Amino acid sequence: MRVALISDVHSNLAALDAVLAAAEAEGAEAVWHMGDLVGYGPQPGAVIARMAEIQARCVLGNHDAAAAGLAGTDEFNGPAGEAARWTARTITAEERALLAALPKVAEDGEYTRVHGSLRDPIWEYLDSVEAATAHFALQGTRFSVFGHTHLPIVIYQQDDHSLAAHRPGDGAGIDIGIPGARVAINPGGAGQPRDGDPRACYALLDTGNLTVRFHRVAYDIAATQELMAAAGLPEPLIRRLARGR
Ligand code: ZN
Repeated sequence: MRVALISDVHSNLAALDAVLAAAEAEGAEAVWHMGDLVGYGPQPGAVIARMAEIQARCVLGNHDAAAAGLAGTDEFNGPAGEAARWTARTITAEERALLAALPKVAEDGEYTRVHGSLRDPIWEYLDSVEAATAHFALQGTRFSVFGHTHLPIVIYQQDDHSLAAHRPGDGAGIDIGIPGARVAINPGGAGQPRDGDPRACYALLDTGNLTVRFHRVAYDIAATQELMAAAGLPEPLIRRLARGR
């Protein structure tokens, strides 16, 4: 099966629709989203509706939890907190209920999905050897897929518990079927990339031949920025979209 791995859409419908179109053209049959459907961006309701319409399998992110009233907004820095409060005010009761019902951790066969890490599912950044070691100690499946850092990466843990990581560029195809290795995959932040490339990102997982291909997709950044300005969302969040930071 071919699965589109998408994470951190952050209420950016133009970015989501761009990666969905690209993934469909590449033969994706399912969509897994690794958390943060909302937060930062201008279209929380439309993103929630699109993901429901395509029956994406989603897990809870920290911004989803804040919007649903399951977490406070104090944990976020100034502009992120402002956007989180705007999101919580803007979504409907039905949308809030959809977010609140998302699981923190989900398993599909050999794959575990989580937003942050298995040690701290919605808040921890899986961005250090220490965090990765703790994550793999809790990973009961051969593969996991995560988000939250907004950086595309593949991390391997070998039988002897040694770690290795790849930072895949646009178009890179990565073999995840290394004998004896467990693997954690982050497709990057679709709606708010932070690696300096402002294009949206996703990855296509082929569960048959155990490969993951990473992609960047151009989308109408200005359209999302205009909607953010019209909604009165903070200026630094509007600017960062164009920088990919
Ligand atoms: Zn995020």
